[in-house]
Amino acid sequence: MAKTYRRIDTQLVHAGTPQPRILGAVSLPIFQSANFEYAGESSYDDIRYIRLNNTPNHLALHRLLSTLEHAPAALVAASGMAAISSTLLSLLGAGDHLLAQNCLYGGTFDLITNDFPRLGIERTFIDGDDPVSWRSALKPNTRAIYVEAMTNPLLEVADLKAVVRFARDCKLISIIDATFASPVNFHPIDLGFDLAIHSATKYLNGHSDIVAGAVIGSTELIGNITHHMNHLGGSMDPHAAFLLYRGLKTLALRVRQQNHSALTIAKFLSHHTAVARVNYAGLESHPRHARARELFEGFGGVLSFELEGDARRAEEFMHRTQIPVVAASLGGVETLLTRPATTSHAGMSAEQRQQLGISDRLIRMSVGIEATDELVDDLAQALGSYQ
Ligand code: PLP
Repeated sequence: MAKTYRRIDTQLVHAGTPQPRILGAVSLPIFQSANFEYAGESSYDDIRYIRLNNTPNHLALHRLLSTLEHAPAALVAASGMAAISSTLLSLLGAGDHLLAQNCLYGGTFDLITNDFPRLGIERTFIDGDDPVSWRSALKPNTRAIYVEAMTNPLLEVADLKAVVRFARDCKLISIIDATFASPVNFHPIDLGFDLAIHSATKYLNGHSDIVAGAVIGSTELIGNITHHMNHLGGSMDPHAAFLLYRGLKTLALRVRQQNHSALTIAKFLSHHTAVARVNYAGLESHPRHARARELFEGFGGVLSFELEGDARRAEEFMHRTQIPVVAASLGGVETLLTRPATTSHAGMSAEQRQQLGISDRLIRMSVGIEATDELVDDLAQALGSYQ
């Protein structure tokens, strides 16, 4: 009988492990084999071959991720973007229409804005906070609605419950990129989303050493996405699968520490005279704090803030810190600082950024697992000259 585990901490360590263990191995080894001896498989998708995402390393991740997200099925991918593009291309074709939140991760925004029109797929960007406007954006050919759990870099929280209700009423597939929240803080499938997507490069792996993605949902939807991904080729390498499986074991420990440190740092910054603005849904002053409390078990490890002064001063501040690394990406064990105008949102024009509220002086911080008080002390010394 398959073993079941109640709590996420236990699931992370044990769920997904092949039963019986392969040759008794406590740690699942890397199956660095492109193909496997034929064992009577009846369909192409079942033939064991790396591109079909079905080596023992892939299958262990599928079992673990479906357990963590409380869903029947999961599929891993070569990157978050491979998961996103394969998902959307499996659901949408020429003549279809997508509703998408207006402040998505840059790669997703570009895919929808620049690649979809060439494929005959239409899209309308919607304000995640304004359900009334969604109905007027709806068309007879609308098939799906796509949102993010928390937006980057302003950490806004859309009306996710309303998204689920709207999708059900209008018979749309609801998709959420839950990368920023992770399954420790949020269970989108329980809320009613059809599909949850992760850039597993971030919190799920947590060690800034692979690129990976995942999509989780019903057996039918994941079967359809798998079939398309088999053609599109965005499958995960077994070595990355091994590292992701290992990284996941500490997800709960890491994310809870990151929740705690990020909240402490957000409070510290919000009281500092050199800080003009802090964006973090865990702060009571955040316009969507009550909604975030209702939806999430923790508010995550990413926050953003503006210092008094211009972008040059923000840059000087980042380089005066001792612990954080000035680098793009997020969700790793090390604290990172970046200025979105020069990294994640550099592809947008200054006007587009301004419209979204992303100023040139905005700094995004992805809090790692270093000691909380040492991080606060470091920020305090780097802010020192502002007082
Ligand atoms: N979704 C979000 C919210 C992201 O932040 C990112 C990357 O930064 C992606 C998707 C894309 O993931 P990947 O870089 O793994 O392709």
